Amino acid sequence: MTDVATTTATESIDEFAARGRAWLADNMPRVDPDNLPVALRAEQSSWDRAKELQKRLYEGGFAGLCFPREYGGQGLPLAYQKAFTAECRGYEMPLILNVPSLTICAATILDMGTEAQKRERISAAIRGDEILCQLLSEPSGGSDLAGVITRADRVGDKWIINGAKTWSTSAFAADYGLMLARTDWTVPKHQGLTMFLVPLNSPGITMRRIKEVNGNEEFCEEFFDGLELGDDAVVGEVNNGWEVASRQLHHERRAVGGGSEFASGTDSDNAEEMPPDHVAYAEVTGQGDDPAVQALAGRALVRRIVKNQLIDHVGSAIGNGSLPPNAGTLIRLFQAETTELEVDTALAIAGTAGVIDEGEELSGLLDSIGVRYLSRQTGSLGGGSSEMARNVIGERILGFPREFAADKGVPFNQVKRGRT
Ligand SMILES: Cc1cc2nc3c(=O)[nH]c(=O)nc-3n(C[C@H](O)[C@H](O)[C@H](O)COP(=O)(O)OP(=O)(O)OC[C@H]3O[C@@H](n4cnc5c(N)ncnc54)[C@H](O)[C@@H]3O)c2cc1C
Repeated sequence: MTDVATTTATESIDEFAARGRAWLADNMPRVDPDNLPVALRAEQSSWDRAKELQKRLYEGGFAGLCFPREYGGQGLPLAYQKAFTAECRGYEMPLILNVPSLTICAATILDMGTEAQKRERISAAIRGDEILCQLLSEPSGGSDLAGVITRADRVGDKWIINGAKTWSTSAFAADYGLMLARTDWTVPKHQGLTMFLVPLNSPGITMRRIKEVNGNEEFCEEFFDGLELGDDAVVGEVNNGWEVASRQLHHERRAVGGGSEFASGTDSDNAEEMPPDHVAYAEVTGQGDDPAVQALAGRALVRRIVKNQLIDHVGSAIGNGSLPPNAGTLIRLFQAETTELEVDTALAIAGTAGVIDEGEELSGLLDSIGVRYLSRQTGSLGGGSSEMARNVIGERILGFPREFAADKGVPFNQVKRGRT
């Protein structure tokens, strides 16, 4: 077995960064900044490659930096992760393992899981042996998460699961999923839920890929037909799943907004995630000197800068308690709005070259913008919609009155659903 390096408690951030720099140079593949690799999330090979790279990081002592040591991490403060991430630029990194596996699912298990779940699942994810995913949204809707109708019935000493989940990011590549189910129908909706950690290769689960408008097939839907789980699959307490889900949403908002301490490497090292280069588009289309185009590009660039500042500001304000944990929603909303503005601006500058593939140099730079435009709103849905984010900001941060809910305090089996 390979010896795993650990960080010494007395190592300064600068010393740690220097050690990281040297280790990266010796152990991780370099990437050409002008021709960044694309990790296609719908391809199994991308996940296999990410696991291999994660294993290298783990063996070098540079995986899971902010996770506790007893669960496979290095137990270091965020400043060390930031320093290492800065050193990672120019290297191929297993970025696709960040969301949702490490930043959302492992983070939630760390907060809410049993000792065995933490020791087994978190360390397997950090080692690059396993991938975790989220099984929350259902075909009947995702915004009203507390209204899930997948059921977990107690039969003897087992839980029997029946129902369906959808939009599960990268579930096809995952080993375990955090799945919210209803365990008590006689109490109001938030009180009868339980979170389960589901091994995805179990009998009783049928998984299918969903084909999106841009041709991608990363998302999955799962059907549970008599899936059997034991008590060891329960995360948190039975009927207290809403607390676990709330924690999960908290981590999701921070991860999607770019503010998670459990993320390693930066998305700007993955060509698929790179923000559009508006200035290059203006130049290549001969509009570089057009003041109207410069104004468009400038507006998008300013928004990007403000977003990055906001991530730091809100992240440290949550850390020092001057903003509540829900404030992660501010980052999440601003990130989604910024992405839409950036892609809209890119398409406005590219014009028809953004949608016509003529196989020429001009089109080669611009034709991906049209495809990207098709999925520009994913950031406004994934991790909860922007409308729901505005509700959270209004009600939980600004203290506005809560939205009226007809099902408030009503036992779930008496709540009218659909046509019933
Ligand atoms: C990129 C991406 C990744 C995702 N990954 C996962 C995943 O890994 N696991 C998972 O379980 N799900 C995942 N989802 C699903 C996502 O959580 C849902 O799409 C989201 O919660 C919205 O649910 P819905 O699509 O069912 O829309 P609905 O809930 O049906 O909502 C439809 C519309 O009504 C609006 N609306 C609903 N209720 C209100 C309200 N009270 N006030 C104001 N407006 C309201 C919504 O904002 C939305 O515009 C992902 C989605 C995307 C796009």
